[in-house]
Amino acid sequence: MKEPIVQVENVFKHYKQSQGNFSGRDAYVKAVNGVTFSLYEGESFGLVGESGSGKSTIGQVMLQLIQPTSGVVKYKGRDVSTFSRKERKAWRKDVQIVFQDPYSSLNPKKTVGWILNEPLQIHKIGDKSYRKQKIMQTLEEVGLDASYLNRYPHELSGGQRQRVAIASAIILNPELIVIDEGVSALDVSVQAQILNLLKSLQRKYHLTYLFISHDLNVVQYFCDRIAVMYLGELMEIGKTEELGTKPKHPYAEALFSSILMHNEAENRIVLEGDLPNPSNPPAGCPFHSRCIHKMDICKTTKPANQYLGGQHQVSCHLYSENQSIQNA
Ligand code: SF4
Repeated sequence: MKEPIVQVENVFKHYKQSQGNFSGRDAYVKAVNGVTFSLYEGESFGLVGESGSGKSTIGQVMLQLIQPTSGVVKYKGRDVSTFSRKERKAWRKDVQIVFQDPYSSLNPKKTVGWILNEPLQIHKIGDKSYRKQKIMQTLEEVGLDASYLNRYPHELSGGQRQRVAIASAIILNPELIVIDEGVSALDVSVQAQILNLLKSLQRKYHLTYLFISHDLNVVQYFCDRIAVMYLGELMEIGKTEELGTKPKHPYAEALFSSILMHNEAENRIVLEGDLPNPSNPPAGCPFHSRCIHKMDICKTTKPANQYLGGQHQVSCHLYSENQSIQNA
């Protein structure tokens, strides 16, 4: 097994609400609740779940764009919160993010050339002529050419803007890129082009991706492993073929049934009810209010993480040692 490039260990992120609840006590939105996983060098790791499951918060905590309430993020074995100023600046070069909407992440008042020059200048990389050559080379890498240098983001199509956002992320030769719903706003044909571009860049530069998406088809196509989140917690982690063909957790099963059983509506598992309020999550298993397999223990006791072989993990009482494995 390769070495982990990132380890997320028991991370919590709770946001205090501006007004307390009716009892007069402070209320907290529990966006992330004790999440642990590792990312391995050169892999594409997909994080999926409904809106509000905490997946984007994890990506931001991993890059320290927001601070966790508790827990540790390690990069190449070192706790990133202990980095010196100099180390943090060097680390910032190694880790980049691509957002869903490049329209808001790219400065609308600046040209493509300026946008690509900025990270090189911030990190004091090369002289003027080196930067010019690096910008040209990076533009070519993402399928654009010199004619785009003086254009503004609003003069580009959605796919071209996303190519510029990717160029801006790779120009510093990073090792890890978080792609947060990076193709969700694009047409299907453009999505495929951008995904193929990301794959070829990964092969060429040995990049590691954390790929955050609500689109299971895209995640299945793109990722080597997938983690399923629900209400700020990880329900299941496994290889794409494991989750894609036989997910174990009842929530993952319902989620994947929507794409497993094309045109077989009777086999789809339709989840009852809505996602519970993250400021008041259910006791016990966070999924119990919607789970068709729930048992008495599920209402009171949080399931421990069970290993099902290899790196396949599931958090569900159906798989704990003292329960029969009904879904195996
Ligand atoms: Fe369902 Fe219980 Fe498993 Fe939760 S622990 S997913 S409620 S069976």
